[in-house]
Parts: sequence; C-alpha cells; structure tokens
Amino acid sequence: MHIRTRFAPSPTGYMHLGNLRSALYTWLFARKHKGVFILRIEDTDQSRYVEGAVDVIYRTLRGIGMDWDEGPDVGGAFGPYVQSERKSLYLPYAQQLVAAGKAYYCFCTHEELNDRRAAAEADGNAAWKYDKHCLNLTQEEVQARLDAGQAYVIRQDVPLSGEAGFDDVLYGHIRVDCRELDDMILVKSDGMPTYNFANVVDDHTMGITHVMRGNEYLSSTPKYNLLYEAFGWDKPVYIHMTPIMRDATHKLSKRDGDAYFEDYVAKGYLPEAIVNYVALLGWNPGDDREFFTLPELIDAFDVSGMSKSPAIFDPQKLTWMNAEYIRKLSQADFVRHARPYLSVESGEWRVELLASILQPRVEYFSQIPDMIDFLSELPDYDIELFTNKKSKTNPEISAQVLGFVLPALENLSDWSVTAIHDLLIGMALEREMKNGTLLWPVRIALAGKPVTPGGAAEIAFLLGRDESLKRLRQANYKLQTTNYK
Ligand code: GLU
Repeated sequence: MHIRTRFAPSPTGYMHLGNLRSALYTWLFARKHKGVFILRIEDTDQSRYVEGAVDVIYRTLRGIGMDWDEGPDVGGAFGPYVQSERKSLYLPYAQQLVAAGKAYYCFCTHEELNDRRAAAEADGNAAWKYDKHCLNLTQEEVQARLDAGQAYVIRQDVPLSGEAGFDDVLYGHIRVDCRELDDMILVKSDGMPTYNFANVVDDHTMGITHVMRGNEYLSSTPKYNLLYEAFGWDKPVYIHMTPIMRDATHKLSKRDGDAYFEDYVAKGYLPEAIVNYVALLGWNPGDDREFFTLPELIDAFDVSGMSKSPAIFDPQKLTWMNAEYIRKLSQADFVRHARPYLSVESGEWRVELLASILQPRVEYFSQIPDMIDFLSELPDYDIELFTNKKSKTNPEISAQVLGFVLPALENLSDWSVTAIHDLLIGMALEREMKNGTLLWPVRIALAGKPVTPGGAAEIAFLLGRDESLKRLRQANYKLQTTNYK
C-alpha cells in the first residue's frame, strides 16, 4: 500500500507540544514507510481562526526540520489544502448522501429545536437529541421548501439501533451504541460544512490511508466511520495517540502557558532537543537510547513502540535534555546561540572565554543574563557571603586574605587568566592555606554572589584589571568597617 498521511492542524494559535507530537509521529510514519506526508489547514471554524497562526504552523514544522510533500504552500494534485478554499466541494457530497437516503434536509429553526428540547427536558429527558422530525417530510414537501428558499441544514441519518465502531491500532475496537449518536449536521445553513464532515470528505478525497491524531477524536470517529459506510468509501487505518499529561490527572492543556513550542524556543531551548524530547513522549525505541537526530528517529520509529498509556510531560527532563544538547554544540554554535543573551560589549576574547565557562553550565540560553549579570554590575551583597564552611572561611579570614591578595594583584603586570590563577594558587601554597580558603573571598569580592560560572581568575580576567581591583578594594573596606564579630 502506498501510504498517505496528513497533519491537519486548525490555525487557532501557537503550536502546542501535543500538536507538535502529532505532526512528528505522522511525519515519521510517512518518512519511515516512504509514504506521502500532507499538510492540510482545517479552518472551517472561522470563529476560532487566529491571524498569523498558519505562519506559526509553517515556522514550527520547518523549525524542527519537517517537510511536507503536499500542502497549501507547496501545492499537490489533491489541493487546495486549506479547507476554506474547498468550500464549494462539500455540498455536492452531502447532496449525494441525501440522494442515497443516508442524509436529509432539515428545516427546523432554532426556536423549534429549543422548544422541543425544553419540552423533552420538562418530561425528564435530559439528553435530548435531534428527533428526526424532518426525515418525515415527503420529497415534494422538501422540494417545495427548497424552492421557497427556506433555510436548511443537511443531517446524517444515523441508524436508530445497532452500533457504530471501528478498530484503532492502539486502542483496539471502539464501539458506540447508535442510540447515543445524534443525526449530526453535515452542512450548515450558510452552506458551509461542519468541521466533522469536512474532515471526512477531505481525508477521503485526499486519499489518506492512515489517520494519526490525538485521542480527543476517538469519540467522534465512530460517527466518521458511519459516513464512510454511507458513502461506501474505504476507511483509513486509525491511530489515535494517547494524551500528554501534566500530571497523573490533568491533561497538558493549551492553558499550560509553557507548553508551546515557540515559548520554549524563545527561552533558549534548541529545537532539536525539543523534538528529541517530544518524540519520546509516547513512543520508545524498544531499547534504552535517548538521543536521536531526525534521521535516526525516522529509522527507529515504529507504531509498535507507541505507548498505550498516557505520557507525562516532565519539564525538568526536557531541560536536562536541552542542557545535554547545549554541551554537545561546537563552541562556534554555542556562541551563535548565546550571543543574543550576552550583554558584554567588548572583545571577541571575552565572548570566547565566557562561552567556555558558560557552555558546561547553561541548561537553556535565557539563563545566561542572570548568570552573568554581576559582570556589568556588582550586586549589593551581604557580608555573610564570606562565610563558607567547606572553604573554611569567614569574614575575618576573608579580611586577612584580601589584605595580601590585593597588593599582589595590584603588582601583577600580566592580567591573563593563567597569570592571575598562578598568582592566587601560589599564595595559597606559600601560606599553607586551602585553595578554597583563598579563592572563596576573592570570588565573592569580585562577583558579589555565591554561584558564578567560572572561578576567581576567570572572573577577574573578564572584569578587567581596573574593575577587579576596584571591587576587591570595596570588599576590603566592607570587611574592615563592618562589625561582624
Ligand atoms: N484539525 C484538528 C486539530 O487541529 C485535527 C483533526 C484530525 O487530525 O483529524 O486538532
């Protein structure tokens, strides 16, 4: 079989990681089996349309390296690929079902429907559904009303008994009692198809063989299948994906602000890390591999590895994975990604040194400004920072240390990382001090915070001679004048 799959997003805003995963699995499946991957924009519900959302879809998919063989912008033999451009196509299909006795015109007005619903509810029948009222009209009556220009919808005639069911690759056989189904509207009074009808007509007319999508469509699929049966069309293979959860009981929802691809990119996550993480949310390769490039994913992907139970989204795991990707970047690539976050004005040499001390520590790029803010401005720090048990130091010892470190640094002519480092370590050795006992107060004096990327010598080098000496003198003064005993 020549496989044809599609990703059919509705342009309603940014791309959620759940949608991204649907797109990715569908694309991997197509690529793995040398099939066709189609992008279709489902914009029948114009009230939910968000300006610019189609561009977000293109940007996101391209941003992670996905391509499509047919779609709105690349064309194809089954176009157009935007539902609103296919408007005129749907009504004839609905009329075809009417002619075959599988659908019918309904002229009931909103008021009539509301009255009958209210009456049914008053009788204790809460789950009122359309009562097939217009199915009783004779052909002549229908024609007369159409000729008179009366507003109508077209409804599917769902059998009154029996069951509608389908087989899903992951969920098995799903069945629904037809008595629970409504005679769903296929074409609305404005001539536009309903979302469900357009989805089925499009999948069929585009020759889709495999439908992969979120499990929120599981309950609509029996209805879709009744349509396939009514038309006498071949049904696609269905693969509904288990949901991505925020925790054991809550689905990761569109309201979870940080669950959008572009938000993660804006925070400085690498698209390839996001894709890698998302790929493993609901699929596993059958072994313990965790790191995959896109081509490796194509190679390894198999529907049999898709999970039957919901996946839990773990932002920390994503951050961990991103940090691993960052560490593997070449220095040039690291600098390219980091540069927008480096506020340091001067010299390439600084950028390179910064890159080398930041790369092992950065988990995502937008952490950088907070990590290096002390370089542009010394924070207003508390003298208690000079206390550190592990380094066996406190304000008193620190005062002694700065007392001899300061003049030594003032006399140092070669202001390089190595020279500064050697000088400091040499002095610790000479005075039989732990390195930490000497380095801690120097680093606190230079940075004004306990956690910094890089050690005392690197920070002194980055700050430059004048600024370093100024900060050391300030610390010295602070230590001399504060009564900390
Ligand atoms: N347009 C639907 C959505 O964005 C997808 C429906 C489908 O894949 O069948 O959720």
